[in-house]
Amino acid sequence: MIVYGPVPSRRLGQSIGINNIPPKICSYSCIYCQLGRTDKMRAVRQKFYRPEDIFHEAELKMKQLDSQNRHADYFSFVPDGEPTLDINLGTEINLLKQFHVKIAVITNASLLWMDDVKNDLMKADWVSVSIDAADNNTWRKIDRPHGSLNQRDIINGIIEFSQSYKGTLVTETMLVDGINDQEICIRKIAEQLLLIQPSKAYLLVPTRPPAESSVQRASKANLLNAVKLIQNISGVKTECITGDEEEEGFFFTEAVADDLLSITSVHPVREDIVDELLRKRNADKAVITRLVKQGKLLKFSYEGKKFYRKNIRNK
Ligand code: SF4
Repeated sequence: MIVYGPVPSRRLGQSIGINNIPPKICSYSCIYCQLGRTDKMRAVRQKFYRPEDIFHEAELKMKQLDSQNRHADYFSFVPDGEPTLDINLGTEINLLKQFHVKIAVITNASLLWMDDVKNDLMKADWVSVSIDAADNNTWRKIDRPHGSLNQRDIINGIIEFSQSYKGTLVTETMLVDGINDQEICIRKIAEQLLLIQPSKAYLLVPTRPPAESSVQRASKANLLNAVKLIQNISGVKTECITGDEEEEGFFFTEAVADDLLSITSVHPVREDIVDELLRKRNADKAVITRLVKQGKLLKFSYEGKKFYRKNIRNK
């Protein structure tokens, strides 16, 4: 399923997800990635799905929402990999504009040094770029980039993009204990944010099972310190997203199994939230047991909580 949701999002309201990249094709293999390690590292853009197929799925989704008297605030490109690897991203954004719904892209920014990627993202209304580190060593440790990528080019690409982009640009920094949450790392990130001047800098912590089990979230004290430092140095409004805010209120249609698989493909969901939603919809937990048995859904533990995640390697 390429088009899924809508998923309620704190930042984007009701957001229809566009999964324009097949499972785990990415230019990074971040240690905190909730989809596991990247087994298909790429740094060259290519074709994946046909833009008209994405448009067709989006059209069906819009009709379904219409029939339910519901609306969407955004189409969000937030796939199982890096969305800008898709050479047709700009064409897809142009096609989706016909629905008069805003377009968001959440990217790791690793290809923003390329002019065609900048041009594609210019078409979106809201773009989030990742900046997990501003020094080469920490970047390699946390994001484990494709060998051909150069961090200076990427940061320069983000700065250039920010100078001509007319939409809303935000940044995301995932703070991992002992990796990028020390003051020296945060200061360097803040110095770049001073040049980029996004509308907002979001600081996140891993709240779902990460690719590497040793990954721990940054402490509250380090997070608060990071907020202060970034605001003081860059003047950019900074906000933390540390909880499960975006999980509450997932919408499940009657086709609970399909919805659960589409949402958990990019967003592991806590077991208690799934249980509560099944209860509200009078759905039987057997649907979950069946998906786990079929190998379509995986059960994980992280920080003492149980999660479900789609098994993206199950065909
Ligand atoms: S977190 Fe995003 S950028 Fe990092 S490996 Fe996962 S999909 Fe790629």
